[in-house]
Parts: sequence; C-alpha cells; structure tokens
Amino acid sequence: MILTFDLDDTLYEEQSFVNSGFLKVAEYVNETYGFNPESALDIMHYELEANGRGEVFDKLLKAYSVFSRSAVRKCLSVYRLHHPDIKLNPDAVRCLDRFKHFNKYIVTDGNKIVQRNKIKALGLTPLMKKIFITHEYGKRNAKPSAYCFNRIAQIENTISEKIAYIADNPQKDFTNIKKLGFKTIRIRQGMFSGLELGPEYEAHFTIDTLDELTLSLIEKLEQA
Ligand SMILES: [Mg+2]
Repeated sequence: MILTFDLDDTLYEEQSFVNSGFLKVAEYVNETYGFNPESALDIMHYELEANGRGEVFDKLLKAYSVFSRSAVRKCLSVYRLHHPDIKLNPDAVRCLDRFKHFNKYIVTDGNKIVQRNKIKALGLTPLMKKIFITHEYGKRNAKPSAYCFNRIAQIENTISEKIAYIADNPQKDFTNIKKLGFKTIRIRQGMFSGLELGPEYEAHFTIDTLDELTLSLIEKLEQA
C-alpha cells in the first residue's frame, strides 16, 4: 500500500500555525504602530473564535483606527511569509517512523508559500517520496479533485486501490477519490472532528490518532 497523508490537522495541529502567525502579526503591529502585542493577540483570537478567519486583520486594524486595505495586506503577508513555530504531532512522528519503508506522499491544499513553509518547518521533505501542494497544479486541481492522486498512481505505476489517503476533512478529502477506488481513512482531529455529512462523504475507516494506523488496519483497507 502507498500511504498518502493530508497535512493540516492530520500530521500537525493547524491551530498551532495560526497561533504562530498571530504572534508574528502582533510583533509587527507593535513595531509599526506601537500596539500592545498582548491586546492585539486577544483581538485576533477573539475575532477568529467569533467569526472565523475572513476578517481577523481588518478587525485588528479597525480596533486601533488604522485600517486600510494596504495595512491589511501587510498583516496578511507577515502571517503568510513567517517561518512557523510548529511541530509534528507525536502520533504522526511514531506513524511516519513505523512506515519508514513505505512509499509516502502528501497531498495538501492551501497557499503554496504557506504550505511550503509549514513542510519545511516540520521537516517532512526527506520523509516523503513527493509532496503535492494542489494549488501548484491550478486551483481546479485542489481537493476534492482527484488530479494529484491520479498523478501518484502514475508515478507508482499502480492502481488506485493500492493507494491510501489519510485526512481529516470529510467535506473534500474522500468523496471523489473513494469513487475512483482509492482507499481512505478519516482521522478525527481539528475543527472537522465532529462533522457528520453522511455515507457519501465518509472514509472507509475512521481513527482518532495515527497510532491506530497499523499493518492490520492496512490489511483491512486492502479488503475494503
Ligand atoms: Mg486537513
């Protein structure tokens, strides 16, 4: 079996990236405008909790009456370009070690530069045969597109049934590729851990940690 992993909330906690980015933005607005960094952090976390990611920096800058489009763009670029202080989850470290002799891939959506910085910070490149950041192949090839998964099948010169994908988001991670024969495992982590969308969106198997990804689960997956 070829093992393919999602990145965010599968191998590390995405919230830790957000925290790391907000910290850099708090430092930036402290240096640039003299804002108290603790208060700036509070505003960003409050807005994220209340309304999601969309307008976090707008709200921060408006709170201090220094809002402008270009000031928002500057905060966004500080956030996106920063070198994140993030770590692989302990179960991910154990899992990647357990399967060190397997051919492994990553398929992840998201901003190219951001995802590349995460991969670098997590030290994943030497552990993987290839890492697919879907947006490098055009937005239309982001998940739920099967494009990158079909590329893996080509590279491995194998059929979809021999490739497993382990990921956390039932909205986009399983539905299409499962129809094409790829094997899927849902890990209940992060913001989607409680989401139930019905059988069409579910993976073949569901696990709570990567410690449950064992040779015997892979055997079951082969029969699934
Ligand atoms: Mg994910």
